[in-house]
Amino acid sequence: MNFGYRAVCLDHDTGPRHPEHPDRLRAIREGLSGAHGVVYKEPDSATVAELTAVHDDDYVDEVREFCESGGGDWDADTVAVEATWDAATASAGMAEWAADRALSGADGRNTPFSLGRPPGHHAVVDDAMGFCFFNNAAVAAQAALDAGDADRVAIVDWDVHHGNGTQDIFYDRGDVFYVSLHEAGLYPGTGDVAETGEGDGEETTMNFPLPQGSTDADYLAAFAEVVEPALESYDPDLLLVSAGFDAHEYDPISRMRVSTEGYALMTTRLRALTERAGAGLGFVLEGGYHLDALAEGIHIIHEVFDGYEPAADDGEIADGAREVIDDVAAQGFGEQ
Ligand SMILES: [Zn+2]
Repeated sequence: MNFGYRAVCLDHDTGPRHPEHPDRLRAIREGLSGAHGVVYKEPDSATVAELTAVHDDDYVDEVREFCESGGGDWDADTVAVEATWDAATASAGMAEWAADRALSGADGRNTPFSLGRPPGHHAVVDDAMGFCFFNNAAVAAQAALDAGDADRVAIVDWDVHHGNGTQDIFYDRGDVFYVSLHEAGLYPGTGDVAETGEGDGEETTMNFPLPQGSTDADYLAAFAEVVEPALESYDPDLLLVSAGFDAHEYDPISRMRVSTEGYALMTTRLRALTERAGAGLGFVLEGGYHLDALAEGIHIIHEVFDGYEPAADDGEIADGAREVIDDVAAQGFGEQ
């Protein structure tokens, strides 16, 4: 794969006890060292105009001033230092790069993966929250639409938390289809099945609040039965994966049981979907707080694009997950 990586993202210093730590990127690099076909790129940072295409002007100013004055606690768990501005704009720029590369036909071994931090999917139009300042995937989707490179963008978010920011930004928009699979009851508490969009965005938001303990089989059933048919009918030009790895069975801040192999299987499904839809495919890093699981998750996705074929999963779908999947299916996506 081609990885977007900028050393400036290490300078976003969240302190010694914060889970969203620069060591996450170091672990990823270490995990990819020696792997065949790893290419690093250093994309440009997002411009203020690209940020304000999805965020309020005043909010973007506020973040810049907050960082310029040395940063501090934005809220209880969202922390900035002076370098956070440069890290956050780099992170958003790398997501744009991933979208741009995917739309330019970079696929197979050249599939782009943006390794930015801070992450983005909790950042709403006018506020930072949940470790996130700018909504990287949303900035990237918007830039692709504004450039005329895409008419419709899908964002599939398998981070264990609901991407409330991405949902909010595009909730009343038909040109971005947001799908989230997340652990019910976790931060930030949004992402109910009934949240399906409004206005022009009706039926272009899809939420799976899966019960704790959900496994590869549950995630894969959600993809096969509901996500893929709906997105095939939506026919996106670009699919961005908001790729968090905190649903991994070893992650300390969730109770999901996705395995490393499970990430490979989800990747093969989304790759096949984009091939059928003729869409570009790019990955944007979100969360993931067990360093080894994070590094292994990204490594195995890289391997999938380098020829690795994961074995099919033969696990059983749990009753609780089955209920959620059926509830989502009953919302009538794609039956227009
Ligand atoms: Zn997360």
